[in-house]
Amino acid sequence: MDIQSPIQQMVQMIVSTRSDEIGCDECFEQLDRFAELVLAGKNTAEALPLVLDHLNRCPDCREEFEALLVALQSTTFPPRPQYLPT
Ligand SMILES: [Zn+2]
Repeated sequence: MDIQSPIQQMVQMIVSTRSDEIGCDECFEQLDRFAELVLAGKNTAEALPLVLDHLNRCPDCREEFEALLVALQSTTFPPRPQYLPT
């Protein structure tokens, strides 16, 4: 039995990118693209694995990313009036 499960392949992919870390500047440069991929439902682990890896380890960039995501979401899906508290 030498068949790799999808999970093992995924782990190997993550491990193989680990040596190739990016810094906050590089992460920030690609952050808007990353957020667009997330909103489009794309596989960010495949498209931008280094950004994903950085976001998992850097709370500052993660905060930045979440703020960006909220901003993009509000332009893509405008908040409905009934969401507002009365
Ligand atoms: Zn960072």
